[in-house]
Amino acid sequence: VNNSYSPPFPWSSTRGTGSEWSEAIAKAREFIRANNLTVEDKVTLTTGLGWQAKGEGGRACVGNIAAINGTNWKGLCLEDSPAGVRFADGVSVFPSGINIASTFDRDLMYARGEAMGKEFVGKGVNVALGPGMNGERTPNAGRNWEMAGADPYLAGEVAYSTIKGLQSSGVQACAKHYIFNEQERNRTTSSSNVDDYTTHMHYLPPFLKAVQADVASFMCSYNLINSSYACQNALAQNGWLKHELGFQGYILSDWAATHSGVDSALNGLDMTMPGDVTFLSNDSYFGANLTEAVNNGSVPIERLDDMATRILGGWYLLGQDAESFPDVNFDAFDRNDDELNEYVDVREDHGALIREIGAASSVLLKNVNNTLPLRKPRTMAVFGSDSGPATKGPNGLPDRGGFDGTVTIGWGSGTADFTYLITPLEALQKQALADRTQFSWWLEDYNLEGAAAAAVNKDVALVFIASDAGEEYITVDGNVGDRNNITAWKGGDELVLAVANNTDNVVVVIHSPGAIDMEAWIDHPNVTAVIMAGFPGQEAGNSIVDVLYGYYNPSGRLPYTIPKGLEEWPVQIEFINTDLDPQPQVDYNEGIYLDYRYYQQNNLTPRYGFGYGLSYTSFNYTNFQTRQLSDQNNERRWNSGEAYTAANATNQVGSSLSRSLHEPRYEVTVDIQNVGGVYGCEVPQLYLGFPEGVDQPPKVLKGFTRVTLDKWEAQKAQFHLSYYDMAVWDVVASRWTVPAGDFKVYVGRSAFDDDSLQGVIPAS
Ligand code: BGC
Repeated sequence: VNNSYSPPFPWSSTRGTGSEWSEAIAKAREFIRANNLTVEDKVTLTTGLGWQAKGEGGRACVGNIAAINGTNWKGLCLEDSPAGVRFADGVSVFPSGINIASTFDRDLMYARGEAMGKEFVGKGVNVALGPGMNGERTPNAGRNWEMAGADPYLAGEVAYSTIKGLQSSGVQACAKHYIFNEQERNRTTSSSNVDDYTTHMHYLPPFLKAVQADVASFMCSYNLINSSYACQNALAQNGWLKHELGFQGYILSDWAATHSGVDSALNGLDMTMPGDVTFLSNDSYFGANLTEAVNNGSVPIERLDDMATRILGGWYLLGQDAESFPDVNFDAFDRNDDELNEYVDVREDHGALIREIGAASSVLLKNVNNTLPLRKPRTMAVFGSDSGPATKGPNGLPDRGGFDGTVTIGWGSGTADFTYLITPLEALQKQALADRTQFSWWLEDYNLEGAAAAAVNKDVALVFIASDAGEEYITVDGNVGDRNNITAWKGGDELVLAVANNTDNVVVVIHSPGAIDMEAWIDHPNVTAVIMAGFPGQEAGNSIVDVLYGYYNPSGRLPYTIPKGLEEWPVQIEFINTDLDPQPQVDYNEGIYLDYRYYQQNNLTPRYGFGYGLSYTSFNYTNFQTRQLSDQNNERRWNSGEAYTAANATNQVGSSLSRSLHEPRYEVTVDIQNVGGVYGCEVPQLYLGFPEGVDQPPKVLKGFTRVTLDKWEAQKAQFHLSYYDMAVWDVVASRWTVPAGDFKVYVGRSAFDDDSLQGVIPAS
C-alpha cells in the first residue's frame, strides 16, 4: 500500500430525494432562486470568516459563517465538542464518547445526544462538532475517548443514536473526522493507507450509520488518505460518501485541513474552516479565490450551487430558518466580556442524566469475595490524586491539557468547561458520613511509605489511578496527544501495590481514555475489585458512589479489549517524529484484524475482552431461536430500533443504499433470566461467524441489546440480521454480496464468552 494513490471521482449534485432531505433541499434551491444569490453570496456560505473572527452579532464561535444581507440567512455558529459546548459558560460536561459506548444502551445514547443538543441550541449554536467517529486502531491513540470504541457495529449504533438525539433538539450534528484519522502523531502530515476491503468492512460502516441518521454535516480529517489529503480526496468525498452512501448534506474541513481551492471544491469539500489558509493568515483557499475560480470556469457554477444547496439544506433540515432559533449569546474567545456574553445557563437538570450515564458506563472488571457493593464499612481510606480536586481548579489548564486531580475527560478540542466537578473524594465522604464510616485519604501518589501506613487495618481501601490522552496540539508529560504507553500515570501501579501489600480489601478505580496495562497488580489477592470508570464527566464522584454502593447495579461493558501489554497489540502508532517529507506512511496492513477480531483470529486471550463486564447479579441464557422473516411481515424494524429514513430511494441491489440490503431477514431470540437476586441490567451480544473461507475473524459483533430485569424476572432478547450484516464487500465488483455457506450465530455475554448460546443460519 505504500505506493497507493487516490483515484479521481467526479462530483455530482445532491439529489435531495427519497428522504427527509427532499423538502430541505427544495427549500435551499428556492432560497437561492428567490434571493437571487450572487456568486459572492454563495461563496459566503462556503467560507469561514477566519480563526477567532467575530461572527453574527459580533460574537465568535470556533467556526463562523457570515450572514447574507437582505435575506433571513443569519450565518452559522459552529462549536465543539462531542461532550458538551466548548468555550462556554453555563453548560454541562457530559460523559465522553467512550463512556456512552460502554453503556451499550441506545436510549441513553439518544438521551445524551438530546440533552447536549438542547445546550448547543440554547447557546445559539447551529452546528455541534460531533460525534467523534474514528476507529480505535490502537489502545493509545489520543482521541479514542472522544470516539465509540473498537468495533464498527457498536460505533455505528452510537453514532446513529447520538446524531438522532442531537438533531432532535434542533442542532446540526457533524460526523467527524472523515476518515482514517486514527492517531494524533503527525496527523496533518501522515498518509493513512487503507485497502478497499478494510475501508468498506471496518472504517466506512459507522459513517454509513451517520448518513442513515440524516446527519447534516461531515468533517473531513487532517490526514492524507492513500497519498491525497482527506479534504481534497475525490474517492472518499465524491465517491464513497456522496455517491455510494448517498450523503445529502455538506462536508466542512477540519480546522486548517484544506490544502487547495479548485481541487478541494471539485473533489467534494463544501465549506472550509475556520476559513483562513492557516490560523490568522488572512487569506483563504475559498473566499475570493473560489469566486475567481468560478468566474474563470475552473469550478463550474453548478458545483458552487451544489455547495450552497447542501449547506442551506442542512440549515433547513433542522428548521434553523425559524425566527425562534436563538442567536449566538456567548463568545468563545471573549469569555468575560459582559457585552458579548449573556451568560445563559442551559444545563437544565442534565446533571442527573450525566450521573446516571456515569454509573451505567462504569465497567466492573473484577469483584471477588463479594467486595462490592459496599455495605457501611466501619473504616475506609481513599488513595491517589485521581480521587481528589485539581489544585488549579477544574478549568485551570486550557482545554484540560494537563494532569491535575481527578481526570474525568481528556484534553483538546473535545472538552467543555466545568461549572462544577464532583470528585470521588467529596462524594465518598458524604456517603461515609451518612453511614458513620470512619473516612480518611492519602493523595500523595509518590509517597508510598505514607500510603502503606494509611492502608493498614482498613475495612476497605479505594485506590484511584488514571491515565490521560488528548489532541496533538497539546503535549502533556511528553505525550503528543497519543499516549506513549498504556501504564497508569503518576506511579499508579506502585501505589496500588503499596496499598495492596498492607491491607486485604482493595478496590481499584480507573479513570482512563481506554485500556491500561494492569498486569502489575490485577492478580494480587488483595485487589478484590476493579472498576473501569473511563471519563464520566462532571458527576464522576456521584456516579462512582452509585456503583460502589450498589445504588446502580453495574452493567457497563468494555467497548475495547484490554491487552496484557501494549506490545501484544497487532499494530502500533507510527511515532515517526517529523513534519517534513517524506510523509509518514501509516499503513493499515492489519486490515480488519484488530481488537477482539485479532485475538480470536490468532487464538489469543487478552486480559479482558471486548464486551466484558460484571454485575452484582447474574443472568441465565436459554432458548436460543432463529427464524427467517418472510418478506410480507417484514416490519422494517432496524437494529437501531427506528425506521431507516435516509437517502435510500435508490434500489441498486448490492449498493450500500439498497433498501433490500438493510431489511431485517432473520430474527434471533434468547430468553434471559435474572437469577442473582438483585435488580439489574444485562447486555446480551450477538456475534456472527461467517461461512468457511470468508476473509473474516471467527466472530463479529452484529447486535446487542440491554435488558432490565428484576430478580427472577425473565425476558426475551431480540435481534435482527439484515443482508448487510451478513455481507462482505466484493472488491472486484464493488458491491455487497452475502457469501454462500452456513453462518454461525452466537449470543453471549461478551466476545470471549465460551458459554454463548449458538445456532446456525443455513446456506440459502
Ligand atoms: C479538531 C476538531 C475540532 C476543530 C475545531 C480541530 O483541531 O481536530 O475535532 O472540531 O479543531 O476546534
